[in-house]
Amino acid sequence: MLRIIGCLTLEHDLQLVLVAAIICVFGTFASTVVASRAAAGQRRGMWLALLAVCAASTVWATHFVAMLAYRSAVPMTYDAGLTAVSYLLGAVVMGVGFTVAIRHYRRRVLVLGGGATVGAGVAVLHYVGMAAMQLPGRLHYDPTLVIVSVLLSCTLGAAGLLVATRSVSHARIWSTALLVAMIVSLHFTGMGAVALEFGAPAGAGRHLGEGISRQGVAVAVTLAALVVLMIAMVGALVDRKVSHRLAVEADRFRTLADGALEGLVVHQHGVLVDANAAARRMVGFAEVDGQLSIDHWFAGVDAAQARLSRLPIDEPVECQLPSPEGVLFPAEVCRRSIRLADGADGELLAIRDLTGRKCSEARIEHLALHDPLTDLPNRRLFVELAQKAIDQAQRSGEPFALLTLDLDGFKLVNDMHGHAAGDALLKEVAQRVTATMRESDTLARFGGDEFVLLQQSAVSPSQAVALAERLLDVLGAPVRLPGIELTISASIGVALYPDDGRTTGALLRSADTAMYRAKADGKATFRFFEPQMDAALEDRRRLELRLRHALKEGSLDVVYQPLVDSANRVTLGFEALARWNDAELGVIPPSEFIPVAEATGLIGPLGELVLRRACMEAASWSRPLRVAVNLSVMQFRRKGLVDTVRRALADSGLPGHRLELEVTESLLIDNRESALQVLTELKALGVHIAMDDFGTGYSSLSYLQSFPFDKIKIDRSFISGVETEAQSASIVRAVASMGRSLNMRVVAEGVETNGQALLLKDLHCDELQGYLIARPMPAGQVEAFLRSAAELPAVPAPLSQALALLLAD
Ligand code: C2E
Ligand code: CA
Ligand code: CA
Repeated sequence: MLRIIGCLTLEHDLQLVLVAAIICVFGTFASTVVASRAAAGQRRGMWLALLAVCAASTVWATHFVAMLAYRSAVPMTYDAGLTAVSYLLGAVVMGVGFTVAIRHYRRRVLVLGGGATVGAGVAVLHYVGMAAMQLPGRLHYDPTLVIVSVLLSCTLGAAGLLVATRSVSHARIWSTALLVAMIVSLHFTGMGAVALEFGAPAGAGRHLGEGISRQGVAVAVTLAALVVLMIAMVGALVDRKVSHRLAVEADRFRTLADGALEGLVVHQHGVLVDANAAARRMVGFAEVDGQLSIDHWFAGVDAAQARLSRLPIDEPVECQLPSPEGVLFPAEVCRRSIRLADGADGELLAIRDLTGRKCSEARIEHLALHDPLTDLPNRRLFVELAQKAIDQAQRSGEPFALLTLDLDGFKLVNDMHGHAAGDALLKEVAQRVTATMRESDTLARFGGDEFVLLQQSAVSPSQAVALAERLLDVLGAPVRLPGIELTISASIGVALYPDDGRTTGALLRSADTAMYRAKADGKATFRFFEPQMDAALEDRRRLELRLRHALKEGSLDVVYQPLVDSANRVTLGFEALARWNDAELGVIPPSEFIPVAEATGLIGPLGELVLRRACMEAASWSRPLRVAVNLSVMQFRRKGLVDTVRRALADSGLPGHRLELEVTESLLIDNRESALQVLTELKALGVHIAMDDFGTGYSSLSYLQSFPFDKIKIDRSFISGVETEAQSASIVRAVASMGRSLNMRVVAEGVETNGQALLLKDLHCDELQGYLIARPMPAGQVEAFLRSAAELPAVPAPLSQALALLLAD
């Protein structure tokens, strides 16, 4: 018995080994190309079948060319049937292996299993192919080497497919190398395991010459190699074209997806498959088990829909997602089922970052509820907070206080120093009050210089007193603004819940009433609400009702007080003054009903009534004297004043120059421009304009210069002290000389004594008005007054003075 042990290197024809190697490398590479097409997903069945054919052809051709290279000392033929079976079996087993690995390329275990199966297929092909050999002897196999060869083949097959399905650089080269190694190692280890025993009849009972000759094998191998070559060429061509087209298309989609503002994320069972640029910018993908997890985003969120699987399909849901920096941000996520490129089910998540929208929503909400200047809560928010305080007080039974705070003379600051200074002052006030109150208290600004404070820490009135006093204190300190230093004060009204009101509205009214009382009581102080203040309010309401009634009935009267020349006491005109004697309320002085008329808008009809009566009356006078009518600032604010005046003149027939309109400085404080416009239009009617109550206002001179008044009426308060107070006299002198320089006549009103009259004449006052000359008289007495030849003072003066007067005349 002769035993030949195949020595691989020495007994092979190296040229043919080279051919086998070329076929192996080339065919394996071709197989990977086909495999990548199968992995791409389209017409997968066909590509998988082609892959099985290509791989089997490669292994088969390699095997048989290598066998040809084997310099056998004995003649050798092949059994055609078994040869075919080896090919088919190998193709089927490898096909199964490829199918498993490619279909489940995401699952490592299945890829390894599939790869091992491919390796097994190679082994099957090899050993069945060996069984097809017909030799004059018997083949012996070393079982250890056979097992080693199969294990090597399976391991390398598994490794080759794992590399091919993972994103490794040069994956195709590496996998080709591993698969070539698989085939080569199996073949040569398998050959090493074989020994031939001569003489003994072949086990299978086959005889030489029955099978295919070496030449036949050569033809078959050539055919197989050709098949591989063609598959590979076609595959490569198709692959190149398709992958180019796919690359272009993928590129286009990628550009499109990356251009989208929305984040787009494709995942499969919570494992990231793909994400566009926006999504990568927006969210931080968490790595779990070496894979990027989507489910993990939601891990830190404790919202109801904190799990991806709980998000409804096709319905946007707001949730929180972690940014790449790990900070949660508000987002809207829409979940949608899609089919992935490989045909598997996946999901698309469209993510919209809501940070900007949330920010602007919050900003808009903030703006809607806060005062833009001071950033304090506005009325709307305050009313909400006050309601909460009421609810809480109802539960706890603890009272609280509501304070309204109004700056004294704020308007003046605005007018004299400009709105910027006014704004700065308001901010300073807001800051000082905020620093003074407790944290549980709430300060709001209702507009203008109106602040309201909710003192929830006030469980007793004494705590409200303490706060009010502290506020008066801090607000009394000088305010330094760029370029100016101001001293201001505030008036504060306090209302207590539940005694002074059970609703926010009632509390605000009570606190306001108390605040007005504080103002009336001299400002820079605070007052608690008292029920009689409400009574005063009630009185006011009744007054308004009666005044309305009186105006409708025309039951208001107009009386006339003369103005005389200070030098000769000749009557120059009369001032018309409203009088009201109500059937229910009795005589009400203008100082009471004019403010009510101004506050309620009744000043319009009232002013018109006085104006028309005065014009009618004056037109009927026997001498063409002037009649003066008082105009309230509120009348200027209403439209149509000029028309009213024009009509009063036209209807009465009184020439314009015989009407004098008395206005006060306050007119020029608000809406200076429009007031000047109206004054100019009035002046165009020929009407004279007088500045009334001069000296009681603010900054006198600038107002006088801003309009060519015809007359200045120095306020009563200066006239009463003109004899006794040096300051009053000097003010009168100054005003008189100023008036003269500005070409305005100067009138002293409220002249009650002869001493005053004489002095005023010396101080260059042009005209006198007052009880000394005459008290305001009903229209019916005007003619009699004019007729009284000497027009002597109505109040008897000492005889010497009367004589002096007469001589002076
Ligand atoms: P006024 O324009 O300064 O009117 C002069 C006021 O001084 C009148 O008071 C008049 O009666 C009073 N008076 C005149 N001489 C003397 C005097 O020697 N001593 C004292 N102590 N008082 C004197 P009256 O009529 O009570 O009017 C008060 C104010 O009411 C007026 O002040 C004026 O501002 C306003 N008023 C009166 N009638 C009207 C009107 O029809 N329309 C408007 N808008 N206001 C009016
Ligand atoms: Ca007047
Ligand atoms: Ca006056």
